[in-house]
Amino acid sequence: MMNTHAEATADGFVIVGEDICEKVISRADAFDAVEAVFAAMARGDAYNFPVVREAIGHADALYGFKGGFDRTGLSLGLKAGGYWPGNMARGLTNHQSTVFLFDPDTGRLSALVGGNYLTALRTAASSSVSIAHLAREDSKVLGMVGAGHQSTFQLRAAVEQRDFEKVVAWNPHPEMLPRLGAVAEELGLAFEAVSPEDLGAQADVIITITSAFEPLIMADWIRPGTHIACMGTDTKGKQEVDPALFSRATVFADEVAQSISIGEAQHAVGQGVIAESDITPVGAVINGTHGGRGSDEEITLFDGTGVGLQDLAVAAVAARLAREQGLVTPVTF
Ligand code: NAD
Repeated sequence: MMNTHAEATADGFVIVGEDICEKVISRADAFDAVEAVFAAMARGDAYNFPVVREAIGHADALYGFKGGFDRTGLSLGLKAGGYWPGNMARGLTNHQSTVFLFDPDTGRLSALVGGNYLTALRTAASSSVSIAHLAREDSKVLGMVGAGHQSTFQLRAAVEQRDFEKVVAWNPHPEMLPRLGAVAEELGLAFEAVSPEDLGAQADVIITITSAFEPLIMADWIRPGTHIACMGTDTKGKQEVDPALFSRATVFADEVAQSISIGEAQHAVGQGVIAESDITPVGAVINGTHGGRGSDEEITLFDGTGVGLQDLAVAAVAARLAREQGLVTPVTF
């Protein structure tokens, strides 16, 4: 029989570094964890706490917390971290985060988990879950808008969901595309750098993962039947797609409240193109309370804003696997 959470962590908390995270958790593990937590959120069994994000007035940094509790998965805690623009010059990643997990039975710290690798993994799992549940089964061409750090994680996770044959890509900074092309080649997929209009004309599934503050993809460029996962917009003011696309699409989100405040839907809702009530949590599709895609002609749009519960879900898996594999030594204090 499985131990209770309290029994499993009675020997202290574990420290799971970035290198151990990379070793123990697979894309399939992350997919399952994120799918389960989206489902729990839609059932009302898991909720995200209000996000704190502050410009701290030092090192030009943005710092904050994303936390929550999942009663089903029993993950309680927070991800603390943010963005330090000067880090690159120090040989460090600009995004830095750490996940703190607590035993929900006792409130004791159960794990400290490096959050950098897991953030990329859980963000890719999010669009991947949306593709699994919303894209047409016969999708063959994947369109990638963006070629930064997250994009290769997105590509690797997405191509596991459908029988893709080709990747078409566009990035505002074209010199970044060859790195993405190399990953497509490694995965045995044809790769073509195209214009954004051509990307819309060819792609069955599109992922946007940029730091844009204005629309890069216009509504008219998107074909009927396309599934588009908008993943880059996670802050007020950011924007990747034309708000008019929302009126042509059936719209889903990881969390509706975050979608309309800091997600891609902030613009469409703000401009009255759609209402908050037009957005469905993707967890409802996972739970079968929403039918998902209605026809091969329908455009489905997923607004993946990135919620704290995703971080807790994958961090809990990484901590459990690290313990099971004897890669960490519990610490008491
Ligand atoms: P990165 O810095 O490695 O790459 C940035 C990407 O955005 C590149 O494709 C670049 O060409 C493009 N870009 C940069 N400035 C731009 C501008 N002004 N206009 C248009 N495009 C621009 O970043 P990354 O780690 O790949 O992250 C990409 C985006 O994803 C960021 O906005 C980040 O905040 C967001 N993100 C979202 C989640 C989530 O859960 N939804 C999680 C992690 C990151």
